[in-house]
Amino acid sequence: MTDIKSMTLPELRDLLQGLGEPAFRGKQVFSWLSRGVTGFDEMSNLPLFLRERLKETCALSVPKAVRKQASARDGTIKYLWELADGNCIESVLMRYRHGNTVCISSQVGCRMGCAFCASTIAGKVRDLTPGELLDQVIFTQKDSGAPISNIVLMGIGEPMDNLDAVLKFLELVNHPDGLNIGMRHISLSTCGVLPGIRRMAELGLQLTLSVSLHAPDRETRSRLMPVNRAYDVEDLFAACHDYFGKTGRRISFEYAMIDGVNDQDWQADLIARRLRGMPGHVNLIPLNDVAESPFRPSRRTAAFQKRLESHGLTATVRRSLGGDIDAACGQLRRKAEAEKGEDSQ
Ligand code: SAH
Repeated sequence: MTDIKSMTLPELRDLLQGLGEPAFRGKQVFSWLSRGVTGFDEMSNLPLFLRERLKETCALSVPKAVRKQASARDGTIKYLWELADGNCIESVLMRYRHGNTVCISSQVGCRMGCAFCASTIAGKVRDLTPGELLDQVIFTQKDSGAPISNIVLMGIGEPMDNLDAVLKFLELVNHPDGLNIGMRHISLSTCGVLPGIRRMAELGLQLTLSVSLHAPDRETRSRLMPVNRAYDVEDLFAACHDYFGKTGRRISFEYAMIDGVNDQDWQADLIARRLRGMPGHVNLIPLNDVAESPFRPSRRTAAFQKRLESHGLTATVRRSLGGDIDAACGQLRRKAEAEKGEDSQ
């Protein structure tokens, strides 16, 4: 079966022309798919025999919302979607003044192994397809009724460990006949997979690159993030400078504040030194407590922020949404997996 949701407009045109249809059918099908139809019969401007033909040859993915948690405080909704093969992924709808934002997952699980992160504990199961990335946006919008204007690739998984699918997804979601979400409204977060950052630098897309830094020194970063043993933080900073040089886009650095580990003044000073020459933005994240992890939230966030600012850097503290529904970082999927495990015992 052809995975029709993952197809770009030119690919759809080819497919339909191969079935003896005129080229304009491609655009019709593409825009139906982006509207979140759940069956080919909903494509009412297609001739009946074509709908039948598509049913026989193409798989139309429709994720099922198996769980939904809505925050009574701020309207955040967290979705647990079940995919066609039974795997589950999370997406989170957040309502900001600048627009509704959906945070989507890029993989089922994650193999990056960051020591403080809940999403990686059970490893990676598989990559998501471009269609499954797109579905998270389409069906979050459809289910919630909230028009989505921004996307952050900051859910479960490492986008640059699945970059081909992610790039195709960006093409799909950005297309004027599809959801038409502008690149400037999209952020992509990476733990520092250098080949991916270099590839993005060459592509020069207008999206916002977020780098999960979490420590500016080799020792601490390698302790927190195994990826640092493959791609060292010094090379990461160099790649970031190069990215800024090539794209002119300011990078956002994510920094989860961990008590006594990465929250010391000398580390703020080192960040400032390494970012000299480019306009970095450091986003300080209050650490989410993960039961399995030995780390605790820092009590020095304000002091660390001041220290960064004293060097002329922009530093913000991330406002936490959905605190009452433990919206962050893979926790809903883990809960569901754990319950599945209990059921089967
Ligand atoms: N793999 C990508 C994107 C997913 S993680 C990346 O690493 O950037 C999204 C963000 O949440 C990352 O910055 C990640 O480091 C951070 N994060 C993970 N666990 C966290 C926790 N317990 N507390 C705060 N932030 C966390």
